[in-house]
Amino acid sequence: MGRRQLWRKVSSIPAVTYFKPAGVRMAELEELQLLVEEAEAIRLKDLEGMEQEECADKMSISRSTFSRLLDTARQKIADALLNGKAIRIEGGNFEMAVRRFRCLQGHEWDVPFERMISAPPENCPECDTPSIMPLFPPGLRRGGYGRGKQFRGRLSR
Ligand SMILES: [Zn+2]
Repeated sequence: MGRRQLWRKVSSIPAVTYFKPAGVRMAELEELQLLVEEAEAIRLKDLEGMEQEECADKMSISRSTFSRLLDTARQKIADALLNGKAIRIEGGNFEMAVRRFRCLQGHEWDVPFERMISAPPENCPECDTPSIMPLFPPGLRRGGYGRGKQFRGRLSR
């Protein structure tokens, strides 16, 4: 096994995940990717105005990791804003603070962050079917999630 993955706890996903400057032709448009956890860092620190210590705590990471995340996020946003680049918010090593699951039979239940990173569910707690899937909040497509692809259980339809 490789290095242990560091998951960042994210409690909110932006509803709009693509920004594009006006007056730039698509062919000339440069696009940069802002990771979901970088967006969360900006949200907590710059939008909510929390102290770095508190932000790091909220995301379940060290203060130095949070500080690096924030620096990268701000650098990307500045680059996009001042150099006229598009921003796409997606991807990263994150897990939701609480994730809701649904099984093939329609049972739904919540799985907290701590359990998602230690032992993500493989079966429905009600009916034991392995056909389960995480429910995605509106606004972000499936591919944008850090861990979605790792789930074995799928609703086939
Ligand atoms: Zn079930």
